[in-house]
Amino acid sequence: MGQDLNNNNHMTMEKPEETGDETLRISDRAAENKEICFPLLSISRLRMGTDGRGITTLVAGAGCPLDCRFCINKEMLERGRVRSVTSEWLYEEVSCDELYFLSTGGGVTFGGGEALLHSAFYGAFRKLCGSSWRLSVETSLAVPRSNVEMAADQIDEFIVDCKDMDPDIYNEYTGGEAALMLGNLRFLLEKAGAERIIVRVPLIPGYNTEKDRERSVKLLKEMGIKRLELFDYVIKQ
Ligand code: SF4
Repeated sequence: MGQDLNNNNHMTMEKPEETGDETLRISDRAAENKEICFPLLSISRLRMGTDGRGITTLVAGAGCPLDCRFCINKEMLERGRVRSVTSEWLYEEVSCDELYFLSTGGGVTFGGGEALLHSAFYGAFRKLCGSSWRLSVETSLAVPRSNVEMAADQIDEFIVDCKDMDPDIYNEYTGGEAALMLGNLRFLLEKAGAERIIVRVPLIPGYNTEKDRERSVKLLKEMGIKRLELFDYVIKQ
């Protein structure tokens, strides 16, 4: 694809091309075809049991619309250098573990930050890796509906950190609106089905209690969520 871009850059020097009764400037086409890149923070190989089934490579991307009180990713973002990478570059980089992916049913997990900010990237990556790699995302679902819809066509598994289902707790901890996450979760259930969704429900020190978490679990089960994981945020002093 790098080569395509070079070709397009070269083509911008040429005259507009006639296409029937509409005239498209070739430079406009180049803009349309411009490859969507991924803002890479880090790559972590050979993970087991932490980011979905099998052996996985975690690819962390920058950016998140939420502002969670105990976010470690923001710290990473401040310290790390973000590289903008193409799907081809990333595919080459992670494909050294293809044998592990294929033999364990694993693949690549996109995390962050918020992985669904980069939904437009996954179609190009899927074309390169094919259907045998398992692609997962770690998400808070605090993104526009169109991002969820786009990803549902490419991603095998959604690992959702719901924070807490109580709107006040959610807002106090993240600064965001629980209604957006909830609406996207309902949509995803409808579009992808419960088997492709894991919802992680954290205990967040100082923000929710065991009782709050039980209430969240109950609500999620009533919605039709079947795969739930409970975990505790561990806060470094
Ligand atoms: S959703 Fe994750 S990345 Fe975003 S602010 Fe919260 S902890 Fe950080």
